[in-house]
Amino acid sequence: ATVAASNYIKKIIEEDLREGRISEVVTRFPPEPNGYLHIGHAKSICLNFDLADEFGGRTHLRFDDTNPLKEDEEYARAIEEDVRWLGYSWDRLCYASDYYEEMFERAKLLIRKGLAYVCELSGDEIRATRGTLTEPGTPSPFRNRSVEENLDQFERMRRGEFVDGAKVLRAKIDMASPNINLRDPILYRISHATHYRAKDAWRIYPMYDFAHPLEDAIEGVTHSICTLEFEDHRPLYDWVIRACEMPTVPRQYEFARLNMTNTVMSKRKLKALVDEGIVDGWDDPRMPTVAGLRRKGYTPGAIRAFAREVGVAKSNSVVDERMLEHFVREDLKLSAPRTMAVLRPLRVVILNYPEGQTEWLEAENNSENKELGVRQIPFGREIWIEQDDFMENPPPKYFRLTPGQEVRLKHAYFIRCEKVIYDEAGKVAEVHCTYDPETKSGSGFTGRKVKGTIHWVCASEARPASFRLFEPIFLDDDGIADESERPLNPNSLTRLEGYVEAQMVREQAASTYQFFRHGYFHEDVLLSTWSHPVYNRVVSLKSSYEV
Ligand code: ATP
Ligand code: MG
Ligand code: MG
Repeated sequence: ATVAASNYIKKIIEEDLREGRISEVVTRFPPEPNGYLHIGHAKSICLNFDLADEFGGRTHLRFDDTNPLKEDEEYARAIEEDVRWLGYSWDRLCYASDYYEEMFERAKLLIRKGLAYVCELSGDEIRATRGTLTEPGTPSPFRNRSVEENLDQFERMRRGEFVDGAKVLRAKIDMASPNINLRDPILYRISHATHYRAKDAWRIYPMYDFAHPLEDAIEGVTHSICTLEFEDHRPLYDWVIRACEMPTVPRQYEFARLNMTNTVMSKRKLKALVDEGIVDGWDDPRMPTVAGLRRKGYTPGAIRAFAREVGVAKSNSVVDERMLEHFVREDLKLSAPRTMAVLRPLRVVILNYPEGQTEWLEAENNSENKELGVRQIPFGREIWIEQDDFMENPPPKYFRLTPGQEVRLKHAYFIRCEKVIYDEAGKVAEVHCTYDPETKSGSGFTGRKVKGTIHWVCASEARPASFRLFEPIFLDDDGIADESERPLNPNSLTRLEGYVEAQMVREQAASTYQFFRHGYFHEDVLLSTWSHPVYNRVVSLKSSYEV
């Protein structure tokens, strides 16, 4: 379906170019600046920019800012940053609010042509008289006002003579149309709210169905891509372009909205998470926002590859979030240095290693990409290992450290557990081991084999670090269709205090690493300090997911 659908829009464009209907493809990405962009928007960005790019065309970033109540400068700037970070540059930066005057003139043209009227029914009355799929609507008592009266009323609406909701401008189309969107839709509403950009210049604002086609036409957009809910609005889109006598004729095409498992995908719901303090802002790594994914450590390349794979399906579906994770793993696999970090530390003392001595061992930075070279890591008498990598009474097939059993320390030596030290509470406080100097990694030792390899960091050289692990914000509850109604996951954020290789931070410029056996981690830009890095887990190492 994906390939067929993407071929479908490309075929249309090819034909439009061949037949001379257009000389250049112009697309637009038209966010409303009422929140931060999410991964669904990212898909739309890639689609619009890539399509134009493929045909040597242009793409506009347009703020569809026609609702003064919800929009803000902060959102507009954040959206620009996100689009740029994804790797795209727009040919024009546009604002719907720059076209208010032209839209107003076009609305007056409709009035003069007898195609629009000022209606004083309330919102509820308008809804109630629109009819149903089987019943035609009832014409408004204001439907047959004279052109002069309508022009006068409309000008007075603009000047702010009436309160919010007192009147609207409606198109005069067909109250019996089988398409309810054509039953005299609202074109303008009154709002005395201050617009973040137009300030108090306007007391009326155009509705989406009127504004969007005009915005597209004013900018010379040729292919206007939106989501499937707008399919039924297309006849109205075309009506507005025709009735307003727009000199260029854009066409609307609809594609499926991206939905993803385990998250919510709507600015309104995401804003609620921010406002209620359930997350630490729009860029919280648990958020499916572009800013959240960036902070978590996603790469633009991974998001673009994902968007291309998802493609432009013609039916709505829910994409498995593991597919997004697959792409970031693929993107980081060869580029991220592979180092060692201990997230839940347990002290190991190597009894036969000389006190005060440190030796430097060579470790390759990425076993699948030799170009990343090698580094020297310190080894000494005391090291940190993971609490999980030691068990006093292990189950069968436990090949890690356990009394009497040897294990390999990655890049170093075999060690054997000799003694367990307990704290007052009877918990394991330290493990005392011996090492065998013959078994040094890279020495070619073949005397005996061990089944397990664990990671570690040298205690005297390690740098303390925090690690943040993430889970979905909401718990799975298939009985509740709306994710945002599901119970909150109390474990959506876990912060652990452990250690990383200190020299890694000094010697390498990368801020994304693969921590051996733990997954990919990215240094948090806001929480990290030079002496105490904080790492966000981008993604764990393995997934059963196959693309
Ligand atoms: P939301 O409800 O999340 O705010 P929206 O459609 O109201 O979504 P806009 O800012 O109007 O948000 O969207 C800008 C563009 O992004 C539109 O062209 C819209 O079709 C597209 N878009 C928004 N959400 C998705 C999604 N989940 N999948 C694909 N495209 C999307
Ligand atoms: Mg919208
Ligand atoms: Mg919205």
